[in-house]
Amino acid sequence: MSEHWSFETKQIHAGQTPDPATGARALPIYQTTSYQFRDTQHAADLFGLAEPGNIYTRIMNPTQDVVEQRLAALEGGVGALLVASGQAATTGALTNVAEAGDHIVASASLYGGTDSLLRHTFPKLGIEVSFVEDNNNPEAWRAAARENTKAFFGETIGNPKGDILDLEAISAVAKEVGVPFIVDNTVATPYLLNPLKHGADTVIHSATKYIGGHGTAIAGVVIDGGTFDYAAHGDKYPGFNTPDASYHGLVFTEALGPAAFIAKLRVQYLRNVGPAVSPFNAFLIAQGIETLSLRVERHIENTRKVAEWLQAREDVAKVTWASLDGNPYKELADKYTPRGSGAVLTFELPGGVDAGRRFIDALELFSHVANIGDVRSLAIHPASTTHSQGTPEEHAATGVTPGLVRLAVGLEGIDDILADLDAGFRAAK
Ligand SMILES: *Cc1c(COP(=O)(O)O)cnc(C)c1O
Repeated sequence: MSEHWSFETKQIHAGQTPDPATGARALPIYQTTSYQFRDTQHAADLFGLAEPGNIYTRIMNPTQDVVEQRLAALEGGVGALLVASGQAATTGALTNVAEAGDHIVASASLYGGTDSLLRHTFPKLGIEVSFVEDNNNPEAWRAAARENTKAFFGETIGNPKGDILDLEAISAVAKEVGVPFIVDNTVATPYLLNPLKHGADTVIHSATKYIGGHGTAIAGVVIDGGTFDYAAHGDKYPGFNTPDASYHGLVFTEALGPAAFIAKLRVQYLRNVGPAVSPFNAFLIAQGIETLSLRVERHIENTRKVAEWLQAREDVAKVTWASLDGNPYKELADKYTPRGSGAVLTFELPGGVDAGRRFIDALELFSHVANIGDVRSLAIHPASTTHSQGTPEEHAATGVTPGLVRLAVGLEGIDDILADLDAGFRAAK
């Protein structure tokens, strides 16, 4: 691969050459659990790390490997790990640096599943999380940090709130505090934003969404920039700097330098905990990546038209899309996502919960699903679905109000999309 290739070229070619055994040009699906050793010496060398190679698909797989290299290239990272879901990516990235007795500071504007993971599951593992409501105020992050804080975490574009995280401001505090800044870049995609260029150290994606792009496979990825110096913070990150008893006494920072984060994640989290992606799903994700820029361009074109059309209507109380004129995040959107702030938008129906229900039930082209990042247009009414549990205070932090509708604008003809939404408005009246 050439470093100088454009995004469009990398999304098709990075990390892949024609299959050496067969000449197959498209990416083969290596649907195998295991790999035959040439002889006992070869097996011993693989297990002893004297030679790199495939052992077992829970740890690595050649189809998965291409996707990892390609996504690392698209985000500008030094390495990547593909796992079974976005949730597994978040869990892995954070538990790679924090363990029982540690603490994480997170933005309060989060995807529902992530909010639940950090609020309810992490405390059971002994990891405490502080949520920053005023998430673009660097002082609020500094104030939340403690001696045992091991990471800052946030979403580059909050789902569903649609706010833009000021990456450079928050990363400056992370550097002062001496912790890695880990971000979820799912809504933005690597085509619209590369957080590693703005001070983030590690990026995760739900590849289920725009990267796969067709609503066919669940997967997640962790991409590391190699920028946080775990060796320089020796006592704070013993897992990186002391011998790993589960892996031949390896010291990750000594053996692997900037590649330590992904190597540790692979041999501890993926190998021992086991959230491996299936080779077939890795192939479906690779198929999606080849057209990522084209799809995202059209997603943005359609989203812009829908946002402007909604804003002009009198029966819409509020439209939230950061790239739209008048949005409080417009300036940050222009800085971090100049091509457009993703294809997820929300708007508020003045009629509250009942109007939201009637609106959704009248849609025919839009699919009523709990997903984003599909070629199909998708809609959901969070107050009666994803956010029907929990307190109003918790929902306020994630931006969910009774009449809120979330759209993930797809790739259909724009006139058909607008006609369907118009039918929803007539029903909501
Ligand atoms: C969907 C989503 C996730 C979780 O990903 P899964 O692949 O569904 O596990 C995490 N973060 C964001 C922003 C998401 O939209």
